[in-house]
Amino acid sequence: MRSSRLKLTLIFLLLSIAIAAAIVLSADSTRNRNVYKLAARDAVLLSEVARGLIEAAAPRGGSLLESDSTTGGFILAPSIQRQLATLPDYLIVVGTDSTIYFASAPVGRLNDTDWNNIYTGLTKVEDGGPAGVMRLSVGTVVFVGARINDPTTGLIRVIAGSRTEPEATPRELLTVLYVVIPLMIVLAVTVFWFVTSGVFQRIERVRADVAAISDGKSLHRRLSNEGASEELDSLITTLNSMIARLETSFLSLRRFTADASHELKTPLAVIRADIERAMHEKTTDLDRQIALEESLQEVRRMSDLVDGLLTLARSDEKQIEIVKEPVNLTALTHEVYETALILGEAAGVNVQLSFITDVTVVGDHDRLRQLFLNLVTNAIKYTPAGGRVDIGLGVHASTATFAVRDTGIGISASDLPHVFDRFWRADRVRTRGSERTGAGLGLAISQWIAQAHSGSLTVSSRLGKGSLFTVILPLNFTES
Ligand code: ADP
Repeated sequence: MRSSRLKLTLIFLLLSIAIAAAIVLSADSTRNRNVYKLAARDAVLLSEVARGLIEAAAPRGGSLLESDSTTGGFILAPSIQRQLATLPDYLIVVGTDSTIYFASAPVGRLNDTDWNNIYTGLTKVEDGGPAGVMRLSVGTVVFVGARINDPTTGLIRVIAGSRTEPEATPRELLTVLYVVIPLMIVLAVTVFWFVTSGVFQRIERVRADVAAISDGKSLHRRLSNEGASEELDSLITTLNSMIARLETSFLSLRRFTADASHELKTPLAVIRADIERAMHEKTTDLDRQIALEESLQEVRRMSDLVDGLLTLARSDEKQIEIVKEPVNLTALTHEVYETALILGEAAGVNVQLSFITDVTVVGDHDRLRQLFLNLVTNAIKYTPAGGRVDIGLGVHASTATFAVRDTGIGISASDLPHVFDRFWRADRVRTRGSERTGAGLGLAISQWIAQAHSGSLTVSSRLGKGSLFTVILPLNFTES
């Protein structure tokens, strides 16, 4: 049985039957208790009446019994017997030696087994209650005793019995048991089946919608919140936010794949052309050499691109471990400045070390070097000849700041939010000369390095005026 609706309905049905059975059983046992109580009350009453009759009929101070000339024993005075015979139900007058002095007509009609049962059980019947219950063939009879002091024999007892109402379930109870309760159960189960039908239909609708959305082409669609139930609404909200996240990753994956293949297409086309040129029989040795060098340059560019992609992919998967060791940023800044001087000289850009402090942070030396170099080479790359690049290293209470300012081409306000996006590059026309720029991964990697050190990389820039990139690093970072 795989349908949850059917399973729930069956559980509901079984529960309803169990509850109904419990109610019927407890009602029945309460009723039975009352039946015994009533019979016991009747028996007590009967025993008291019988005793009253016997005592009233007895001659003052004389015996209740008369000697029987036929047997030589004693019998209950016939006048008393006649009066007792008018009483209903089961009545026995018995002596202490178990002699039966009187037995009412209903007792006389009992069969031998019943009579034996009564006879052996008589001693167990208490005087005045609590009642002794005997199951006889005529039904259940409750017996109660009463004692009378007799001057002749000492003690005689009156045992009175009253039959309980037949225990058989009365008609009304049978109707409730076999008609009303089953009808109510059927009604409840039917209502339950239809009520759950609405819920399950909505779940099925959500499932179908999710199936339609998750085909990959409809990730822009969202499930509609019907306000049907709190649980379903919260499920729909969760699913919607999951679909939104899926859509974002799907789009960025698509963009990433398109960008990566686009970036690889150009160098591959150049390499292909170069190889074809080098293989041509009419190509001179010098041209062949030039073609090979160009290919080599493109291969280097491609290998840098693949390195960058791998770094970002691994950083996304949190697979790159950031070494935590003391890094002397002062020495590192000097080293980067030396490299910048050489690059700046080649590009006609004036590079200055504006301010520097003694500061050591905990981090990954090689990654921090990569970050600083990226910023400095960008500053030189995007600053026209004659411009200026300033490098600075400062320290605050718990952070170190590395800043690179240039007087280069700057970045427009609309472009600024995208500079750290993967593969993003400003309009190529603005870049210096005919030199091809990188793939647009440098700043994305730089930002990841800063963040992996629990730090930040920020930029402020004005188009045509220059840019300022600032790295802030905690002096001691503990997060992994
Ligand atoms: P690229 O390898 O293209 O330099 P980056 O991720 O380092 O890639 O930089 C992304 C883009 O940001 C660059 O293409 C450039 O348009 C812009 N950019 C980065 N640094 C500067 C800067 N100092 N001045 C102006 N534009 C910059």
